[in-house]
Amino acid sequence: MLSNKTAIVIGGGIAGCSSAYALAQRGIQVTLLERHANLASEASGNPQAMLYPRLSGDDTASQFALMSYLYSLELLKTLELTPADFQLCGMLQLGFNPRELARIEKVAKHFAGENLLRYVNAKEASLLAGLTLSHDAIYFPDAAWVNPQVLCQRLSHHKNISIKTLTNANKILKNKGLFEVYVDQKLVKAADIIIIANANEANNMGLALVSKTQAVRGQVSILKASDISSKLKLIVCSDGYLSPATNGQHCLGATFSTDSTDLTIDELGIDELDHEANLARLKCFSLPLYEHLKDNICAGRVSLRCTSADYFPLVGELLESSAVIAKPPRPNASTATLPWLTGLYINIAHGSRGFTSAPLCAELLASLICGDSLPIPAELAGLLNPNRFLLRKLGLKKLARTLATSNTRGMLQPISS
Ligand SMILES: Cc1cc2nc3c(=O)[nH]c(=O)nc-3n(C[C@H](O)[C@H](O)[C@H](O)COP(=O)(O)OP(=O)(O)OC[C@H]3O[C@@H](n4cnc5c(N)ncnc54)[C@H](O)[C@@H]3O)c2cc1C
Repeated sequence: MLSNKTAIVIGGGIAGCSSAYALAQRGIQVTLLERHANLASEASGNPQAMLYPRLSGDDTASQFALMSYLYSLELLKTLELTPADFQLCGMLQLGFNPRELARIEKVAKHFAGENLLRYVNAKEASLLAGLTLSHDAIYFPDAAWVNPQVLCQRLSHHKNISIKTLTNANKILKNKGLFEVYVDQKLVKAADIIIIANANEANNMGLALVSKTQAVRGQVSILKASDISSKLKLIVCSDGYLSPATNGQHCLGATFSTDSTDLTIDELGIDELDHEANLARLKCFSLPLYEHLKDNICAGRVSLRCTSADYFPLVGELLESSAVIAKPPRPNASTATLPWLTGLYINIAHGSRGFTSAPLCAELLASLICGDSLPIPAELAGLLNPNRFLLRKLGLKKLARTLATSNTRGMLQPISS
C-alpha cells in the first residue's frame, strides 16, 4: 500500500505539476512547493505551449518524442480544458529548406498508413492552413496548443495535492527515514518521497548532483493578428512556430541561446534582437505572413529552458554521487548494491518540449515509485536514467548501460512496506 505514503514535489512548472498529479492519482498525499506566488511562473509560463513531436525516423529520440506526444494528448483530453485553453488544431511542419524537406519525406515514409501524420504538398498545406503556403509539409491532425498556466493549475488542483507557493526550498535532509525540506533553516515539510522538479535550480539544493544541465534562454514574441493572419487555422512550424490567433494574438517562437546561461530568471529581459530573430523565422517560411505581422509585435516573454548534454530529460531515482565518487563501484557491480538515495527522485531537463515530455516522465516516475509496470519500454526509460552522466564520468560505461536497461536498481522495488 502506497496510499499512506507522502511526497514532496519541488517546483511548480509542468514537470512538478504533472509529477504531483501522477502520484496523487495513485492516492499518495503530495505537497507541491513553488518559489513564486503562482505555479508555471518560469519556463512553463508562456501564453501558449505547442504539443507536437519532432521526429526523424525510428531512432530512440523519435520513439520517446512520439510516445510523449501521444501520452500528453491523451492526458489533456481527460482534463476537460475549455477551447479557450486547449485546442487540437493540428500542425504543419514545413519542408522549408532541403534538409527539412528530406527529413519530412523520410518521416512521412516511415509513418505511411498511420493516422499520426501524412505528407501534404504546398497546395493541400495551404488549404489546411487557410492561407497560402509555398512549402510541402507533414500534417499532424492532432497536434495542439495548451495554456500552460491553466494546465499546471488543473493538474495540481487535486484532493491529494496541497500547494505551498512563495516557498524557495534550498535544503533537503534525511532524518529518521523521512526527507525534510527546508527554506533556509526553517523546516517546511517532511515526507517519504521527494521529487526534484525545479529545472536549472536542481543543483542548488545542497545535493551535489552530477547531472549536467544547461540553461538555454528562449524568447517568444506575441503578435497582434491581422485580418489575413486571423485566417490561420493551425500551428505552422519551421525551426520555430506560429500559433493560430487566440484572442486576437499569435505566439511566435522561439529563440534558443546558450549565451546567458549564468543569468537567473530575475535578470532576464526582453531583447529586441530576439524579436527580430523570431520574425526572421516567420519570413523564412511565409513572406506574406511576415509582411502582415512584422510591425505587430505587442509583447514578448523570456525564460530559461533546462537541457541535458544528450537532450534527454533526467528522470528517476538518484544515487548518492559523493559516495559513488569516493568509492567507485566495480564495473560489474549489481545495481542493487549501489548507494541509492532511496526515495529521492528527479524530473528535470525537458529542454524545448516539456509539455510533451514531462507528463510521460511524471507517469514513469510514479510507476517506478509504486512498482507499477512502466508506461514505456525499459530500454527507453533507461535512456532517461539521471545517474548516467555520473557513471560515464567515472568511466563506468558498462554499469551505466546496465542501469540504462531498466532505469531502476535492476529490480523493481516499490518503497512500500
Ligand atoms: C521561449 C520558450 C518557448 C517554449 N515553447 C514550448 C512549446 O511550445 N512547447 C513545449 O512543449 N515546450 C516549450 N518550451 C519548453 C518548456 O517551456 C519547458 O520544457 C518546460 O516548461 C519545463 O518545465 P519544468 O517544469 O521542467 O521547468 P519550469 O517551468 O522552469 O519549472 C521549474 C519550477 O521550479 C520552481 N523552482 C525553482 N527552484 C525552486 C526552489 N528552490 N523551490 C521551489 N520552487 C523552485 C521555479 O519557480 C519553476 O516554477 C519553451 C521554452 C521556452 C523558453
